[in-house]
Amino acid sequence: MCRVRDPAVVVLMLPFPAQGHLTPLLHFSRLLALRRLPVVFISSSAHNRQAKLRLQGWNLASFPSISFHDLPLPPFPVPEPDPESVIKFPAHLQPIFDVSDMLRDPLDQLLGSLAASSRRVVIVHDPLMSYAAELGSRYANVEAFAFRCVSAFSSLSFQLNQRRDPKPAREGLHLVSPEGCFTKEFLEFVHRRHHAVPLTAGEIFNTFDEMEGEFMEKLTEMPRYENRKIWGIGPIFPIQLTKRSDPKPGLFNWLDMQPDRSVLYVSFGSNSSLSSAQVSELAAGLEQTGKRFLWVLRAADRGNIFKKGTRPEIHLPEGFEQRVRGSGLVVRGWAPQLEILSHGAVGGFLSHCGWNSCMESLSLGVPLATWPLHSDQPANAQLVTEVLKVGVVVRAWGGGAEEVVTAGKIEKAVRRLMADTPEAEAIRERSAKVRDAARGAWAPSGSSTAALDSFIRLVTRA
Ligand code: UDP
Repeated sequence: MCRVRDPAVVVLMLPFPAQGHLTPLLHFSRLLALRRLPVVFISSSAHNRQAKLRLQGWNLASFPSISFHDLPLPPFPVPEPDPESVIKFPAHLQPIFDVSDMLRDPLDQLLGSLAASSRRVVIVHDPLMSYAAELGSRYANVEAFAFRCVSAFSSLSFQLNQRRDPKPAREGLHLVSPEGCFTKEFLEFVHRRHHAVPLTAGEIFNTFDEMEGEFMEKLTEMPRYENRKIWGIGPIFPIQLTKRSDPKPGLFNWLDMQPDRSVLYVSFGSNSSLSSAQVSELAAGLEQTGKRFLWVLRAADRGNIFKKGTRPEIHLPEGFEQRVRGSGLVVRGWAPQLEILSHGAVGGFLSHCGWNSCMESLSLGVPLATWPLHSDQPANAQLVTEVLKVGVVVRAWGGGAEEVVTAGKIEKAVRRLMADTPEAEAIRERSAKVRDAARGAWAPSGSSTAALDSFIRLVTRA
């Protein structure tokens, strides 16, 4: 329920209903609540529940000024993901994406009542929910801002691609091909859902100047940012975690027993699934390295993660778990990634390069082995390996049809990352510098502190 009673300024946080979009907006709510702004997090009851359930790093109960408001959503189809699909984009989520249009009317009602009882209502919405900005534009005391859950680099790459601008995001880098990143349906959906983004007063990115300042600068030169501001406010999660959970008994006990920086963490995020042939190759590749690993093996989220039903089991090669026992741990289902990456035993992350995963890894000083599957991930992988040089490539993005990445290729990349060679040592040193820069961004004089101050000053002005 919405607990806000006649506040001077209230923030409405409107996420897009998928994990990689719910988490950053909830973290951003914390940052605003720390600056004494009341925040109302609005989504369907299932997605509000999902956001709360999977929150890591801080305790929601310590932030009474963040309230949740459930908006009604009609029933929608909840298909299973198709791990064998050639295009890795999670097309099975399209029904929830489409139905999120139905949050519009209840949002309008809430907005009307809050606009009547507050001096100012600030909407922070996902760009894919930009109808909120359109609704807000009808009130004199409502202002909207878009929160982009992607990197500035990938956003710039996409815009250059869209304009068929051959200029790279930085001299010497080729533009990542958008081929195979999305389904046609999703691209049409993005086109429809982005229409009101220009009505927003600006955009917030989960990033920081020292890492992506040059790309944010270049973004401001793009036509769509004329008269609109950009803030780099990140990392948005607390680098010093104040809460540790262990929903998987034994996971942290196992990590506690491993030597420092010896474990490769393997995960493909919340909404991607690997084919069964790919799972077998990955298992073989990890086994061949002889390195320690922690592999989160799970099927992609469905549109409603709470819907009952039996999900097909993901099979590993015969005897794999027995053979790797001691050095390798397979976790089935959801794992507390932020807490895992914060653990001193983790020395590398084999990742699909979703932006949240990248920011978590980069800000915690964990080098990456990059294996992009769809969306903004290929561009993020390029940022990690070619710009920041804090990772190695497992799968290069060629665009188009997905090939199975062989065990040999996986083994080679993992060995390269988890080695004692000068190359791996240099990667670790650069990662430590990025981590220090992330911490520095939140120092009293840091860039993210200044960006957050500037945002707060703007939205609370008299
Ligand atoms: N995540 C997690 N445990 C899992 C899978 C994912 O905690 O088992 C979190 C991860 O830490 C990140 C988010 O879910 O915050 C995934 O977002 P990301 O942008 O990396 O990828 P997406 O899931 O959107 O592809």
